Formats: sequence, structure tokens, C-alpha cells
Amino acid sequence: MSVDRAETETNGDRPEDSTLLAVDGVVKQFGGLVAVDGATFGVEAGSITGLIGPNGAGKSTLFDCITGVYTPDAGTVTLDGEAIQGLSPNQVAARGVGRTFQTPKTFRGMTVRENLAFAAREQTGERALGALFRPGRVETEETAIQETVDETLEFLELDHLAEEYAGGLSGGQRKLLELGRVLMMDPEIILLDEPVAGVNPALTDELLERLHELNDRGRTILFIEHDMDIVMGHCDSVVVLHNGQTLAVGPPEIVQEDDRVVEAYLGGYD
Ligand code: ADP
Ligand code: MG
Repeated sequence: MSVDRAETETNGDRPEDSTLLAVDGVVKQFGGLVAVDGATFGVEAGSITGLIGPNGAGKSTLFDCITGVYTPDAGTVTLDGEAIQGLSPNQVAARGVGRTFQTPKTFRGMTVRENLAFAAREQTGERALGALFRPGRVETEETAIQETVDETLEFLELDHLAEEYAGGLSGGQRKLLELGRVLMMDPEIILLDEPVAGVNPALTDELLERLHELNDRGRTILFIEHDMDIVMGHCDSVVVLHNGQTLAVGPPEIVQEDDRVVEAYLGGYD
């Protein structure tokens, strides 16, 4: 896995240095607590970007502000130059922003296959089904859903678990399934909240490999991660959040040497 992947490959016809997602001065308060305090950074199209920071830094809340769970108290979030702050989660998803949660939101009483199909059916709008795997093909909606389910199962190597109930999966398998639910909507950018936390090493490698494959297919990735080795080895760019503020943004090898980052992490990082 090489960190210079994005420097050597282009993704689609977008210029490599263009910003896909821009977070500018975002603030989110809960009563007197300022969880996100002016966070500002850009995510380059086609990049794998890591969002790191101590527990309580505001990472998940920032994802909530980007994906429409919360409307920021101040600041803007733009996707491809268009403001998306204040839109509903469904509207943000329809614009091509996929998101997994720290605790996977799968339906335990549905099978893996049903979970994937449902992810497509519960979304309305024009997000074309199956474009990730079959660009340009037009089918009836139900056929497209079933074919996309099959392809997603195969892509994530979950085929053998298709008829299992989600409630019976391991934590790591549930995270893969949640990624699958997101892929059903063919997102342009995928936000993952601690995708490999609590996942066994074999499944962690598997998940990271899938993220690189998605990146190779032109999808931009922004993921929250605690493990510095993973961030160093898999990200083109790193954003460090501390007390709701962006402490540093840049290539992992530079951010890692940043005095403020080293200081913020002393005693605070788990
Ligand atoms: P991280 O994901 O970086 O660990 P969070 O975004 O979950 O951090 O939390 C940031 C801060 O906001 C923490 O102090 C947390 O306790 C607080 N917080 C998060 N969600 C809520 C909420 N719904 N109500 C009140 N406080 C919250
Ligand atoms: Mg969190």
C-alpha cells in the first residue's frame, strides 16, 4: 500500500488538486460545550484523507455536521463548490456523500442481502444505482438493486454471508456490511467513522484494501482513525482535530512531525 498513489494516478477527469469537500469555520455547540470550534480544511478529490484527534476532539460531531445530522451553528460545508450545510441526511446522501457510523447502523433482524437492498430502497432521488460497478447501464430499478447487491456482496467478499442475519455477524463483518450499505448509493465521497476500530487484523487489512480499491475507482475517502501506523500507511493527507479545532492539515509525514500535534497527543491519545 503506497501513500503516493494519488500523486501518480488521476481519478476521472477532475484536476488532481481540486477540493471536493470543503469545511470552513464549522462550529457546533451542545449547550455550553463547543464540540466543533471553527474546523477548517479541504478534502482533495481522489484522495484518501485521515481525520485524527484525541477522544472527544469532535471528529464524529464534525461528520454529523458534514452529513446533515446536525446543522452547524456557524460555518459552511461545500461539496464541489455547493453549500450543503443544513441539508437533511438524505439530501446530503443524494448528493453523493456516503457515511458510516462509529457504531454500525445495520438492521440485525434482516439478512445481509436484505440490508443491502433496503439501503437502496430507503433512499429516493436520482442517485443512479450501480454506477460504481456498471457505468452507463440502465435497468429497471428492482433489477438494478438486485444486481448491485450481488456485486457489492462480491466486492466486499460477503457472498458467503448473504443469507445470514446481520445480528449474527462479528463486529468487523458488520462494519463491512455498513460500508456495503453506503456503496449501494454509489457515493462520490465516503466518510468512515473509525472503520477498523475493534476489527480483527485480518479483516482490518481486508477493509483497508477495499478502501484503496474504491479509491482506485475514483472515490474520495475521508476516514476517522486512531492508529497512527494506519494513518501513515494509507492516507495521502491528514487532518488533526483538537478541541474542535483543526490543529494541522497536510501530508502524514509532515503532520506527524508537527510540534503542536506531538504536544496535543502527549497523554491524550489512546
Ligand atoms: P470524537 O468523535 O472526536 O471522540 P465527539 O464528536 O463524539 O468526539 O464529541 C465531541 C464532544 O462533544 C465530546 O465532549 C462529547 O462528549 C460531546 N458531545 C458529542 N455529542 C453530544 C451530544 N449529542 N450532546 C452533548 N454533547 C455531545
Ligand atoms: Mg467519535
